[in-house]
Amino acid sequence: MKQRIELEAACELVADKLKSFSNETVKLVNSSGRVLAEDVRAPMHQPPFDRSPLDGFAVRAEDTTGASTETPVSLKIVSKLYAGDSPVKKIGPGEAARIMTGAPIPEGADSVIRQERTDWNDEEVEIKATLKPGQNYAPAGEDIKQGELLCEKGTLLRSPHLGVLASMGLEEVLVLPEPEVSVLTTGSELQEVGQELKPGKIYNSNNYMISTRLKECGAKVINSQVAVDEKDILRDRLAELIPGSDFLVTTGGVSVGEKDLILEVLEEMGAEIFFWKLAIKPGTPVVCGRLDDTIIFGLSGNPAACITTFDLLVRPTLIKINGLEKENLRKEKAIFIDDFNKSSSTRRMLRAWVVRTEKGNIVKLSKGNQRPGVLKTTLDCNCFIDIPAGSPPVESGAEVEIFRLPEIYN
Ligand code: AMP
Ligand code: MG
Repeated sequence: MKQRIELEAACELVADKLKSFSNETVKLVNSSGRVLAEDVRAPMHQPPFDRSPLDGFAVRAEDTTGASTETPVSLKIVSKLYAGDSPVKKIGPGEAARIMTGAPIPEGADSVIRQERTDWNDEEVEIKATLKPGQNYAPAGEDIKQGELLCEKGTLLRSPHLGVLASMGLEEVLVLPEPEVSVLTTGSELQEVGQELKPGKIYNSNNYMISTRLKECGAKVINSQVAVDEKDILRDRLAELIPGSDFLVTTGGVSVGEKDLILEVLEEMGAEIFFWKLAIKPGTPVVCGRLDDTIIFGLSGNPAACITTFDLLVRPTLIKINGLEKENLRKEKAIFIDDFNKSSSTRRMLRAWVVRTEKGNIVKLSKGNQRPGVLKTTLDCNCFIDIPAGSPPVESGAEVEIFRLPEIYN
């Protein structure tokens, strides 16, 4: 299929062609940013034993009846417990145990008095307050009860989840798959950063932009290469990158110029081409297809076109696999408070900045012009305004639809 295709149809088409991905067991230490593939229930109590929440003395509350600063009660110290100790000696009537925060409360004791409310020496403690049973006493399971649902399937794992799961002694978790992606930036004009720029050349900014964007939406970049616009070289690079990659994202060489060779090379290599050209501006030139099990997104080299099609086509595809819904675009309405004086025969995606106000979203165009080769507008872009095909110029005050980028771009 080589005619222009609507964005939504393109996304569906790619979704239908996805192979099946398997959930993955990862070490807890590496699980931040991944999405849980199953509910996790507590395998144990936290704390695992009754423990003291403060430094003081474990006592029997009934032994402190009537105790106050004026009328202290004296108890015999029979043991000392630090955090990490296991309790040995039972507390009997008239007895107390010296105890530190986190130490297990000995049998017989039902409360803990903080040391600031006592005076003590090696043998005896003077208790200067009356305690209730259970006072300053953290029972086993106070925090988490064995069997309780801790984290639901679909949870995006962040530091609090890792803390809670680690408290349960869990070393591994089952998470949704992480798509493995290779990047190929193409163009004979490209030079790597750090080199002196030769006449007619430009720095390869797409590699940085796209590789980072991939990581930001939870994909793993496993390889990135550069190629000049020569068929043999392109074929070699593609043949090297495709096996072992779930996805390949290329930039450059997908339009109609004499050195736009990606489509031709992919066809010669036997790739199944899903479509060439999207019905949006910027970003009309996109080649999408599959070779073996690898889905290939051939994006335009123009940086703004490249980022737009990445966000609208590649990003939603990856998120279907890794479950990172938070990193997807959200469709919202906004009031346009700018002017866009061109009519749109093709559907446009304008780079823009949206702000939430009490009266709803207001949106204005990113600073700079909207041409596809423009890079700087991407600095000032937290959404795309979706202007339908056939629209007249957009006036200030008009209601528009936007695709809002995730919070990290704010
Ligand atoms: P192409 O898609 O190959 O027709 O390239 C369109 C425009 O994007 C040209 O001006 C290229 O020089 C530029 N371009 C292509 N690749 C890159 C890249 N990796 N980084 C920055 N600009 C690029
Ligand atoms: Mg080119």
